[in-house]
Amino acid sequence: MRLANFINGTFVPPRANAYLDDVEPATGEVLAHVPDSDSQDVDDAVRAAKAAFPAWAAMHAEQRSRLLLKLAELIEQNLDELAQLESRDNGKSVSLARRLDIPRAVANFRFFATAILHHASEAHIADGHALNYTLRQPIGIAGLISPWNLPLYLLSWKIAPALACGNTCVAKPSELTPLTAQRLAELSLDAGIPPGVLNIVHGYGAKAGAALCEHPDVPLISFTGGTVTGAKVAATAAPKFKKLSLELGGKNPNLIFADADLDEAVSTSIRSSFWNQGEICLCGSRIFVERSIYDAFLERFVAATKQLRIGDPADPQTDVGALISAAHLEKVTGYLRLAEEEGGTIVTGGKRVDRPGFFLEPAVITGLGCDCRVLQEEIFGPVVTITPFDAEDDAIAFANSTRYGLSATVWTRDLQRAHRVAAKLDAGTIWINCWLLRDLRVPFGGVKDSGVGREGGVDSLHFFTEPKNICVKLS
Ligand code: NDP
Repeated sequence: MRLANFINGTFVPPRANAYLDDVEPATGEVLAHVPDSDSQDVDDAVRAAKAAFPAWAAMHAEQRSRLLLKLAELIEQNLDELAQLESRDNGKSVSLARRLDIPRAVANFRFFATAILHHASEAHIADGHALNYTLRQPIGIAGLISPWNLPLYLLSWKIAPALACGNTCVAKPSELTPLTAQRLAELSLDAGIPPGVLNIVHGYGAKAGAALCEHPDVPLISFTGGTVTGAKVAATAAPKFKKLSLELGGKNPNLIFADADLDEAVSTSIRSSFWNQGEICLCGSRIFVERSIYDAFLERFVAATKQLRIGDPADPQTDVGALISAAHLEKVTGYLRLAEEEGGTIVTGGKRVDRPGFFLEPAVITGLGCDCRVLQEEIFGPVVTITPFDAEDDAIAFANSTRYGLSATVWTRDLQRAHRVAAKLDAGTIWINCWLLRDLRVPFGGVKDSGVGREGGVDSLHFFTEPKNICVKLS
């Protein structure tokens, strides 16, 4: 299969006619050929988006909303096909794609298509002398860059609010997972979204992604990806004073206090550690357990880990599929070797599975302190550390001991402690006795090296519009 860029409502080959291999993680075989786009292709897409902007921005919000709702409906109607594409392209189990990725992409389009209808702006009357009101207008062409781990979901998280607010966009999905983006482009045509409003350019981040960040006609960049890449994006965009949102990596802690519901804490922590092969930015990769229940937790957690079914992502019974690439598998196994060098014990898992593709048994590591690299650096795989703590303050200090601050999970039945601890954790999202529950109205993002800016709900509508304050003299 040969993919194409989606520019001005048509599928076009890359100008240089160069292609990259899209490798299927579960087999290691080439699944498709994806455009290796360069700055010329990005320029074509930006030109199309620029031409489409005035009409799209001027369209009534209700009309834009209707088109985006239609797109949501089409994604929903094609849920099974999209889940299969996502599973083959990414290596995740098809049941997870069906349950998580695709329904959440539908929800993103529905949410922002309707949110824009209720978006109000502020007015202030200054002692009866003047009326100030804030006019929020679309900005122009949004550059949207997304990673491979939740491909359609994260792309829709950006496209939906950008378009709902009246911007046009050029999206650059990860070249490792282009298939659902291509299908989304087709569905956008069926939904009646006008040519040039949504453009998709495939290719390497360092080439096509960087060209998008540098482009003088792209005034805002919404980026989701790793912290190192985020720093490069910021270095490119900041001197050009672009509006920038960075959603970056995480090294998220799970704090489990002795009074927690142990059954719930274990089963949810298994999901938060190993769902999507641990390749979710919000996965809890460092588990801290109060010493009095440490042994009991570890025993149950290890037993539940051993029961996970690893294998063919297309099998609906599979819990853990393949990692995204050979290079990523090498990175993750490198951290397992490091864990042993640092004095840790791999209690279970950590072995490559004897079959083609990039499979790894989920691994549980004990015996490492918070300052070890394995507890400091984002591994982004099915690897979790478990460490005991003695007191609440220690738990908070351990949780906050990395440069990341994306999310955290607290398990306790003590209501006061839950709130007290949550307030002291360095994280953009803190789940109490749950994980990955999302309400699209809340601000989403990280602190410290996990990112800057917030998206979600009103924050997305604010990010994708420019406020203009208008002051009218009344008397
Ligand atoms: P990367 O940072 O490698 O890539 C993210 C995207 O940026 C890809 O499309 C990539 O293209 C592109 N890119 C790479 N270099 C540049 C550049 N110089 N300029 C512009 N774009 C560039 O992340 P991964 O794809 O490996 O995704 C995993 C990371 O994403 C993890 O760190 C994870 O925590 C984070 N993440 C954060 C989330 C959040 O909400 N905070 C959500 C999901 C993931 P290419 O694929 O070609 O490199």
